[in-house]
Amino acid sequence: VAKGLQEDRESLWVVFNAMIEGREVINLGQGFPDFASPDFLLEALGRVARDPSAHSLSPSRGHPSLIQAICQLYSSFLGREIGENEVISFVGAYGILYLALRALIKPGDEVILLEPAFESYASLIELCGAIPVFVPFTPPHNTTGPSSTDEWRLDPTRLESAVSSSTSLLLLNNPNNPLGKSMSKEEIKIVADLCKRHNLLLLSDEVYEWMTYEGRELVRVAAVEGMWKRTVSVFSAGKMFSVTGWKLGWAVGPADLISRMEEVLKETAYCGCTPLQLAVGEGVKRVAGFMGTSEGYLCELRRDLERKRDTLFTALVEIGLSPIKPSGTYFMMMRIPRLMAILATADTSTESYDFTFVKWMIREVGLAVIPVTPFCGKQNTVIGDTLVRLCFAKKDSTLAAAIVKLKLMK
Ligand code: PMP
Ligand code: GLN
Repeated sequence: VAKGLQEDRESLWVVFNAMIEGREVINLGQGFPDFASPDFLLEALGRVARDPSAHSLSPSRGHPSLIQAICQLYSSFLGREIGENEVISFVGAYGILYLALRALIKPGDEVILLEPAFESYASLIELCGAIPVFVPFTPPHNTTGPSSTDEWRLDPTRLESAVSSSTSLLLLNNPNNPLGKSMSKEEIKIVADLCKRHNLLLLSDEVYEWMTYEGRELVRVAAVEGMWKRTVSVFSAGKMFSVTGWKLGWAVGPADLISRMEEVLKETAYCGCTPLQLAVGEGVKRVAGFMGTSEGYLCELRRDLERKRDTLFTALVEIGLSPIKPSGTYFMMMRIPRLMAILATADTSTESYDFTFVKWMIREVGLAVIPVTPFCGKQNTVIGDTLVRLCFAKKDSTLAAAIVKLKLMK
């Protein structure tokens, strides 16, 4: 175990991939689209690959053409002209989160997370010698039948009581993976007010920024009054363009916080991968040209994903399962049915029930999904082991095959 990590901390993705290795399964587990990435991006990469000037090191923060494209895109909705010194790019949103935490917190600090929180956050915080403090969303009372992520509420009292004299930063993920919730204006205001009142920094992971449904737009916390100077927002080309293996992320925020991140970047890798930055820069410029319209790649992706969400949700309801309809991301949570076949073999003293269920699904049903306990803190008194996550960023044929498998469960 890496220094600083809790002894029993194991990467969910390593554990999950070992569980499905060598098995014929329909995979709605790890979050990656199995449909094609957009041609315009792949063509851009081809052009870049043949350009002899495109293969040298970039400036640490990123190649100017990518940085300028990002400035153009985010200036259009953050309510301010974003300067080139207010952007930084690196290896994936993961890499950006690492830089931000390394640069912005110190050992012994407490960092607030909204539970469930993306699985790697707690580990990243611990690697910096700091302490994750989980504040659970409050779920609805009824635990059977269909429901929606709007029923999962942020409790301001609970949030307030998590702040201590050691709290320095709140790490938000909106829309939230694995919950699939895109937070309302009121909820974002609660978070923003807390940060302002206690002088906290805010790291806002918005990698699912374009995946919001039913006409909702992402509420960008950096645009809330008084928040710009304390907020670093995090984005991912992997999510934006359905190229999860490209691992190119960026952050937008005030120059002083971004330059602290650059100090860490210079000593970590010096710069990210130039050809990918150039290709993504072209992609970002292209989508920026469609902002304010209902056309272009991002709108099509959103419409497609919303349709896939609805297909999966309807099927789960028809089968008699209890899905939670997401307002964002490409994930849907579902309550685990208490099936006798599994309950009989479950030993919750050695393994949480969601893992027992997922292993049973992989083995007996041939469908892989993700257990949700790894997204929760050690205490986990609210969510427990009652949920799994399904990824619906899949071809229609993959979803159809998954639905056939799900029907076997009954
Ligand atoms: N944050 C969240 C919430 C994610 O789901 C992911 C996906 N792995 C990341 C960050 C990392 O993104 P990237 O692949 O760009 O490193
Ligand atoms: N973000 C993706 C998920 O939540 C993938 C994470 C990963 O590969 N580490 O499934």
